[in-house]
Amino acid sequence: MSTKKTIEAIIAPPPPHMVGDGFRVHSFFPGGRLIDKKRMSPFFMMDYGAKIEFSPSIEPRGVGVHPHAGFETVTIAYHGKIAHHDSAGNSGIIGEGDVQWMTAGSGLLHKEYHEKGFSKTGGPFQMVQLWVNLPAKDKKTTPKYQEITNAIMGRHYMSDKQSFIEVIAGEYNGTKGPATTFTPMEVYNARLKKGATAILNFPSNYNTGLLVTEGTAKMNGSHVATDHFVLFNNDGGEIEIEATDDTIILVLSGEPIDEPIAAYGPFLMNTWQEVEEAIEAVNRGKFGVLED
Ligand code: MN
Repeated sequence: MSTKKTIEAIIAPPPPHMVGDGFRVHSFFPGGRLIDKKRMSPFFMMDYGAKIEFSPSIEPRGVGVHPHAGFETVTIAYHGKIAHHDSAGNSGIIGEGDVQWMTAGSGLLHKEYHEKGFSKTGGPFQMVQLWVNLPAKDKKTTPKYQEITNAIMGRHYMSDKQSFIEVIAGEYNGTKGPATTFTPMEVYNARLKKGATAILNFPSNYNTGLLVTEGTAKMNGSHVATDHFVLFNNDGGEIEIEATDDTIILVLSGEPIDEPIAAYGPFLMNTWQEVEEAIEAVNRGKFGVLED
């Protein structure tokens, strides 16, 4: 029987800031308690747009054309709709419960906006954006885009037949997620009704953190409030979640990528020379073309 993981910290949402004019986010990491850029590796960054109401707008709010290279952006929509276009020719709209998994790899330009219809009506908006690092051998992989609709996610139901683990990447008790990843990782939403319990189990060396996006829960006996992030120590295996309200919890656990990090703006490389090369490639138009 595996022992329980212990909690390193329960972290309240840091003060929010705007990314463009469309994303009001709490940056949980890197920074603060997670100042070590590899503390949640392979997850490098997590911006959490806690639930807020956007007023109607004719012009969609968002972030204009910008580059990325050396990693993947993973956007999880809980409320509202997000539109994406990139210079590799991919585009998509994700809505409630959907995920877009964009591999920037060798480099591309993209833009991220509220979807037009959502902008016009306004309404509740809640999302997470993760930056998932790529190992050195895959840093320059060809850009790609995985649209992961809620319908194709794995679902493992609990004994109450209403609560379930929604598997985006990895595998939960034999139920697999649709996302293709470059290193081993588990990304789930635990959607649990009040009173339900779920047991998770991850290797002790995996970096593991859980974000409560809705409701409240007990994790290995500790109470966790809405919008709080629980960072686990690299020990034990088991996490017991008990839903103390109807709850949605984003579960992240992955094998660390033990390689040097050179992070600058939208680039996540292994060396500063690679960062300079990426900047130069953008300036030379090597990341393609995308209209604002
Ligand atoms: Mn971006």
